[in-house]
Amino acid sequence: MVLYNPQNAKDVCDIISGALAGGGKLEIIGGGTRTDFGAPNRETDRLSLKSLSGIIDYNPSELVLTARAGTPLTELNEAVSARGQGFAFEPWGAFMSTIGGVIAAGVSGPRRISAGAVRDHLLGFEAVSGRGESFRGGAKVVKNVTGYDLPKLLCGSWGRLAALTEVTLKVLPRPPERLTLLWRGLADELGFALMRKAMRQPVDVAAAAHLPGQATLIRLDGFGPSVASRRAHLNAVLTKYGAPEAMDEAEAAPLWATCQGGGALPSGPPLWRLSLPPRRALASIAPLLAMGGDYVADWAGGLIWLSLAGHEEVIRQRAAHVGGHATLARAPAELRERLPALHPQPPAIEALYRRIRRAFDPLGVFETNRFLDETNAD
Ligand SMILES: Cc1cc2nc3c(=O)[nH]c(=O)nc-3n(C[C@H](O)[C@H](O)[C@H](O)COP(=O)(O)OP(=O)(O)OC[C@H]3O[C@@H](n4cnc5c(N)ncnc54)[C@H](O)[C@@H]3O)c2cc1C
Repeated sequence: MVLYNPQNAKDVCDIISGALAGGGKLEIIGGGTRTDFGAPNRETDRLSLKSLSGIIDYNPSELVLTARAGTPLTELNEAVSARGQGFAFEPWGAFMSTIGGVIAAGVSGPRRISAGAVRDHLLGFEAVSGRGESFRGGAKVVKNVTGYDLPKLLCGSWGRLAALTEVTLKVLPRPPERLTLLWRGLADELGFALMRKAMRQPVDVAAAAHLPGQATLIRLDGFGPSVASRRAHLNAVLTKYGAPEAMDEAEAAPLWATCQGGGALPSGPPLWRLSLPPRRALASIAPLLAMGGDYVADWAGGLIWLSLAGHEEVIRQRAAHVGGHATLARAPAELRERLPALHPQPPAIEALYRRIRRAFDPLGVFETNRFLDETNAD
C-alpha cells in the first residue's frame, strides 16, 4: 500500500491521473480518524490530503472562511472563536479531524436542528474528480448561485466523488449566551415528550437531547434578555416535568459531547447511527432496547446513537419502517466485512447515485469497496 502525500492541488491531479492511467484505486483520507468506517481496506493506496492545510482567506466581517481541505477542524475552530464567531452546524470529530473529512462524512452537531446541516453551510469548494481534473462548485460569497448545487452533493460523499482540496464555509457570530436547561432522570417517554413540546414552542430551541437515565437537555442560544424571556416561557409550559436546572456553556459542554458519536455508550457492541422521524423514534427503537440496546438521542430524537450487539437486520428494518436509515458507525472488522456501513438505498436512488458516481469518477478510481457495493457499479 502506497501513502501519497500531495503538497498542493496540482499534485492531487497528478496522483489521480497516474492512478487512472495505471488502473489503480485510491482511498482519500484527511486526518484518517475514521479509516475504521466501512469495510476494512488493507490493500488500496491512500491519498492523504493532510498537507493541504491552512486558512486561505478569513474575513470576519464577510462571515466567510476559505481553507485548504486538510486543515484540522481544531485550527479552524480556534481561528473563528478568536473573532467571536463559529460554525453554526457545530462540526465535531477527533483531534486530528480535518474540515475535508467533516464535509465528506456529513458531520453536524446538536445545533443542526436549528441552524441546518453542514450542507447548508458549505458555500463552495475546489476538488479533483476521478478524471484527474480540478473543478469548482458553488462560490465564495453568501448568495444564490445558478447551476447544479454541487456543494450539497459533496457533503456526505465519503470520498467517493472527488478529493476536496479547498472549501469555503459560512461563519456566524457566536451566540453571546448559551443556556442549557436540564431535567434529571426523566423516563424515556417523558424525555421525548418534553423535547417534542419544547420544539413546538415559539422559543427557537437551539438543541435538544435525551441521555437515558441521566438527563434531558434543551439549549437556548442568543442575547441574554432574549434567552431569559424564552427560558421563562419554557418553564411555564413545561411545569409538569419538574423544575429544570440551568447550566452555562462550560458546565453543559461534557453532556452535549456525549451526543457526539455515542459518547459514553458501551464501546464493546457495534455502534449504530439511526436517522429517524423524531415523533416515531422511541417507538421504533423500543424493541431494540428490549434486546439489550443502549442509546442516546440528539436532534430532538431525530438522531439516535444505538449500541447493540447482533440483530443487524432488525435494526435496519426498524429504521426503514419509519422512513429512516441506519448507518453502522463502529463495529469489529468481521462485521464491517460483510455488512455495508451505509443503509442500502431504494433501487431508484441507488441507480441515480451510481450514475452520479460514474460522472465524477468514470473508471472507479475512488471505488475501494469500502461500502461493499462496487460490484453493483455499471
Ligand atoms: C456515522 C459517523 C460516525 C462517526 N464516528 C466518529 C467517531 O467515532 N469518532 C470521531 O472522532 N468522529 C466520528 N465521526 C465524525 C467524523 O467522521 C469526523 O469528524 C471526520 O469525518 C473525521 O475527519 P478526518 O479528516 O479524520 O476524516 P477521515 O477519517 O480521513 O475520512 C473520513 C471520510 O471523509 C473522506 N475524506 C476525507 N478527506 C477528504 C477530502 N479532502 N476530500 C474528499 N473526501 C475526504 C474519506 O474518504 C472518508 O470517507 C463520525 C461521523 C459519522 C457520520
